[in-house]
Amino acid sequence: MPVLFAFLLVLQAAAPTAVVHVRLIDGRGAAPVENATVVIRGDRIAAAGPAAEVKVPAGARIVEGRGMSLLPGLADMHTHLSGGWDGESSDYLGNRLTMAALLYNGVTTVLDPGDITSYVKQLRDEIRGGRLAGPRIYYTGLVLDGAKPVWPDISGAIATTDQVGHFVHQMKQADATFIKAYGGLSTDMVKAVVDAAARDSIRVIADVWQRNGTLADAQTGIAAFAHAASLPMTDETIRYMADHGTATITTLAVYESFARRRFKDMSFLDQPLLKDILTPTYIRQIRAHGTTSDAGIDTARIARGLSTGQSNVKRMFAAGILLAAGTDAPYPGDYYGEGLQRELELLVEAGLKPLDVISLATRNAARLVRADSEWGTVEPGKIADLLLVRGDPSTRISDTRNIVMVIQGGRVIDRAALRYDPRRDPDYHPVVLRPH
Ligand SMILES: [Zn+2]
Repeated sequence: MPVLFAFLLVLQAAAPTAVVHVRLIDGRGAAPVENATVVIRGDRIAAAGPAAEVKVPAGARIVEGRGMSLLPGLADMHTHLSGGWDGESSDYLGNRLTMAALLYNGVTTVLDPGDITSYVKQLRDEIRGGRLAGPRIYYTGLVLDGAKPVWPDISGAIATTDQVGHFVHQMKQADATFIKAYGGLSTDMVKAVVDAAARDSIRVIADVWQRNGTLADAQTGIAAFAHAASLPMTDETIRYMADHGTATITTLAVYESFARRRFKDMSFLDQPLLKDILTPTYIRQIRAHGTTSDAGIDTARIARGLSTGQSNVKRMFAAGILLAAGTDAPYPGDYYGEGLQRELELLVEAGLKPLDVISLATRNAARLVRADSEWGTVEPGKIADLLLVRGDPSTRISDTRNIVMVIQGGRVIDRAALRYDPRRDPDYHPVVLRPH
């Protein structure tokens, strides 16, 4: 390599970036700063604030942000990275596209609460090592379920309490962020999991189906419910959770998926955030699913569950419970990346203010995994995971869809390179993991 060229590369790597004239929505829930400057050095935010107070460093690469908003990269704290379209089949071969769909939509962090442990750990490690483009991944690995697990391939089956310690330890050894307790476990068994996890210094999140959002399960000492309850919560439970720091991951998008609400108008599939990254077979299967009849599915009951979930979310938010945005993607109508965009809209529909909703998908997500000193807000010293969008999502949440630029660890993502390309990417090849 010519010496001058090498020197220029070093210079470019060392040069700071400044986003100027931008509306800053920093993730902390405060009013946006109009005409802000944000300076990035290396992988960190060096300065952020009103243009009058933040100096643009000499030699900085300038990103013009007029008419745009800059916010923290988004986080989906409930998504299974198994690649299938319907929540039951899997496509591990397409992991590059799964990762690309998330980044393309501005999702720079995810929590996978249930997957094949070795797979999700390797995915995390490949991304960490810079060998695969993708979001920052937290995971639980296997879920701990009852003796007859619903998802055998991704479950540890627990029949008696003396089996609990072994599984918890195995997940801890696999570097899991949480242990995931699932609905086949009784409340007493969930308590046994929480106690074993405490001995191993790891916390527990739970999806205990109809018992989500109940006092008895909150009292087991779990860190969070993995879903907002779709049945009404009592005031007593909400008070208990607020007092004891029990969090909730929202996942309204999966309720909307099962209520089949999005399929009344299939034009949502034409937007770039989906069309650019889904494979032809995947889209064909979604269209087929969306136009089949609702026979056998009580969509009205599920739609009521969605609105109950929305009302629970509003009440929990008002009580000061830590809420983090999540989707439970993939399911029909609830996709990698775009599902989180949809979740934000459903949270606003629930009655939350757009600025608060943005905090749920940024700062609160980081708080859930106790990483808020590292990422989740636009503040000096934080990792520079950023989303630049046209418009003003603090007044119109769907403006988070108008993505101009995604920055991850201080580097601008080449979004064009993330799009589905039939010459390079495999089409969708589903494998059904669930045998019954
Ligand atoms: Zn899930």
